[in-house]
Parts: sequence; structure tokens; C-alpha cells
Amino acid sequence: MLEVPIAPRDDAPFAAVLDPEDLARYRQAVGRARRRLEQRRLWHINSTPTGGGVAEILGTVLGYLRHAGIDARWLVIRADPAFFAITKRIHNRLHGEPGDGGALGDFEREHVVRVTEDNLARLRDLVRPGDVAFLHDPQPLGLVPALTRMGVEVVWTCHVGVDEPNELAREAWAFLRPFLDGARAFVFTRAAYVWEGIERDRVVILPPCIDAFSLKNVELDDAARDAILAAAGVLPARVPGDPVFRRGDGREGRVTHAADVRHVEPIPAEARLVVQVSRWDRLKDPVGVLQGFARHVERRDVHLVLAGPAPAAVADDPEAMEVLDEVEGAWEELPPDARRRAHLVNVPTVDVEENAVIVNALQRRADVVVQKSLAEGFGLTVTEAMWKRRPVVASRVGGIQDQIVDGEHGRLVDPRDLAAFGAAVEAVLADPDAASTLADAAHDRVRRSFLAPHYLARGLELLERLDG
Ligand code: UDP
Repeated sequence: MLEVPIAPRDDAPFAAVLDPEDLARYRQAVGRARRRLEQRRLWHINSTPTGGGVAEILGTVLGYLRHAGIDARWLVIRADPAFFAITKRIHNRLHGEPGDGGALGDFEREHVVRVTEDNLARLRDLVRPGDVAFLHDPQPLGLVPALTRMGVEVVWTCHVGVDEPNELAREAWAFLRPFLDGARAFVFTRAAYVWEGIERDRVVILPPCIDAFSLKNVELDDAARDAILAAAGVLPARVPGDPVFRRGDGREGRVTHAADVRHVEPIPAEARLVVQVSRWDRLKDPVGVLQGFARHVERRDVHLVLAGPAPAAVADDPEAMEVLDEVEGAWEELPPDARRRAHLVNVPTVDVEENAVIVNALQRRADVVVQKSLAEGFGLTVTEAMWKRRPVVASRVGGIQDQIVDGEHGRLVDPRDLAAFGAAVEAVLADPDAASTLADAAHDRVRRSFLAPHYLARGLELLERLDG
């Protein structure tokens, strides 16, 4: 069990962004929670400190609670590769996909229990009766029974799911269900993901959020943006700005690590960019993005950037290396013109803040952000792009549908229809005025619904329900 330090973050800047009633709701919820929790701690437990949406959320929003005087803490379970192979299998099945096709039986259950017990030893020293623990996704679920026995109020938060459950999803539910006994409440990111047979009055729907003021999302001017991308080796080196950024602790940071880029030649400075940023995961359909782009986006000045974290960085994602190999293989197979316009970028992860600011710059440099996922619990990358006023072309799946109304805040396409995907990208590129109308509406949508204070207010209101 690893405790990730949380730096306090002042919520004052939200006053300039939120509608007054949203700010008031958030401030009141924080005030009530502070009084209610007093000496109690608010734990969040997941399986990786970096990489993926949950780590992104915890790494930013918990700081606001600490600043407000709530003792919010973040723990990451430690586990071996066999455990993460099992939990990735569960993750895929919760999305209705077979994943590696392996079993979910007694052997797997025993392994999960063993890993959980190793983690409990540390946890026993940390938690106290009356504390509240939010467990995120299936990986820490094995902790529920022991935490409950220790007098901790447990909330399980499930960030993944499938709109139309199939036998694979039900198999994962059956495997996980025994661990859930004792949990006081269940959080799902969207209503369609609530499992069959779960008591509805203990369910809360809580869509995730982004932090407008984190390095991932802060405003960057064009010079800083291009300098950051040049320093990261994504754009050609000769640009005027300085690749600097302000770290969370106030010190100046500088982009010094280059991305591992696979391309025929560097991106021309004047190229228009189509960008997808995602972990190397088949459900993000990176090969489909490459093929859809190659076959259906023919404008010669338009380049594709397919970016993801260097695979070794995401501890709980054992398939990343294999998927990256597949993507590189598909890239090799592209016709020469398309290959010249397609760039694979492994964003360096040695420094989380540097990684965030490079992703920020990439998203801001995009003329179109795409998220061609085959399944998506929510899709923070979509929210991030919307906040940055980028036109988005995304799949009509999962939580993306809660963010984008097609034609209003972006474009939604059938993820299996490469021609429709390409046509939507072409249409956005062909009509900059329409694209900027979509992008402005997208920004406002995030401002009203998907920023940290919205998420925190709803999460803290849930605590009140726990105490009755
Ligand atoms: N991300 C990142 N660095 C990378 C690639 C992705 O920080 O190199 C972030 C991305 O910006 C987003 C998160 O990882 O904040 C992915 O969350 P999302 O909900 O889109 O997908 P998940 O990975 O949780 O399935």
C-alpha cells in the first residue's frame, strides 16, 4: 500500500469560472462535510498513482478538500503482475469484452484475496473506525470486507461498464459481487452501468470531472504550447518560446524529456492536427484510428498524432506493451502517404507534471481531438478537449454520450464505421466556423457540469446520505 501525498489546492479561482449557484452548492457541501468528518479521514483507494482517468481525478481534486480542511488521503494498492492480469481481465469484461479470454474462477479469487491481505497489513495502521473509504474500480474491492469490519464506511466507485450488458459483463459481476457485501453505497459514472440486482437506493450516479487549473488543463499560450511540443520532440525544434511551466509547488518546471516518437519525418510546423491521447488499450481502438485516418482523411496538410503514456508507466495495465506493438505493426502497414502523416507518440512519464503539460499542449495544438473508443466509462480526454475549446469527434459509446450531444458539443459516430469517423473529421476541418461553434458549446458544457467542484459537491452530498 502506497500513500500518495496530496498537495492542498486553493479553490478560489473557481469563483471566476462557475455559475454562482454552483459555487455556493460546492462551498456549502464542503462546509457541511468538514463539520461532519471532524476527526475522521476520507480515504480514496485505487491501483495506480499515474496513468488513466482515476489517477487523473484523484491527483487533482483531493487537493481542494485538503485545502478546505478535510483530511482526504489517497492510497494505492500494491500487487504483482498476475493480479493486474486478472483485474485487466475483469476490466475488459465489465466493458463486455473478452480481454485475454482467461478464467475468472476460484484460482483468480484466491489470488485477489492474497494480494488484498498483503495490503491490509499497512492499512490497519492507517484507518480508524468511522473513517470513510471510496474504493475505485475492481482492483481494491477485496478490501471491502476487512474495512467494514474495522468500522470504516465503504463506498465502491465503478468507472467502467457497458450500455447493454452481455454474458461477459455478467461473469465479471458474479466474480466481484461477493466482495461488495458491506459496502454502504455504490457509485457508477452513468445510469446505464448500474449492475442488475444492485439495490437502487444505495446507488449514486456521479460522472467524473476535470480540474480546470491543473497542468493538464491550464491555459497555455501558443508560444508556450509549441515550445513544449518542440522540447518533447513532437514538433520541429525551431520555435521561439520557452518550454516552461509552473509546478504545483510553485517552482518553475521545464520540459526536458523527449517523447519516444515513431514517424517517417517530423510534423510540419503548419500542419493541421488530428489528435487522440489514450492509454495503449484496445478499447481505445488505436488501430481503428490509424486505419480510419489513412482511408478516409485525405487532406495532405492534415496529420494524425496518436499519443499515449510510455507503456511501462501504467502499473495496472499489463496489456499496454502488446497493444503498442500492434499499433506499430498497423502503422508499418499503412500506405506511404498515410504513414508520412501519422505519428505515434509515447509521452514521457518520468515526471507526472511534465507529462501533463505535454498532453495539455498536444490537445491544445489539435485542430480536431478524436476519441474513437469502442467502450468508455466516461472519457476524461473528451472532457479535457472540450474544456480547451477543441472540436471533438468521438464514439457514440458509454459516458461520452453524457458529455456530447451530437451536433451540439461535438460529433458522435458509430465506432465501427471508419468511413463515418473520417467523414466527421473532414467535415469539422472543412468548416472552421461550425467547428468553433461546437467547441464553444463544448467548453460551456464542461464549465456547467464536469469541473472538480461539481464532482466534489455530489460526492460530499453522498456522505450525508451515508450518515443518514
Ligand atoms: N493521460 C495522461 N498521459 C498520457 C495519456 C493519457 O495523463 O500520456 C491521461 C488523459 O489526459 C486523461 C487520462 O489519462 O486524463 C485518461 O482518462 P480517460 O477517462 O480518458 O480514460 P481511461 O484511461 O481512464 O480509460
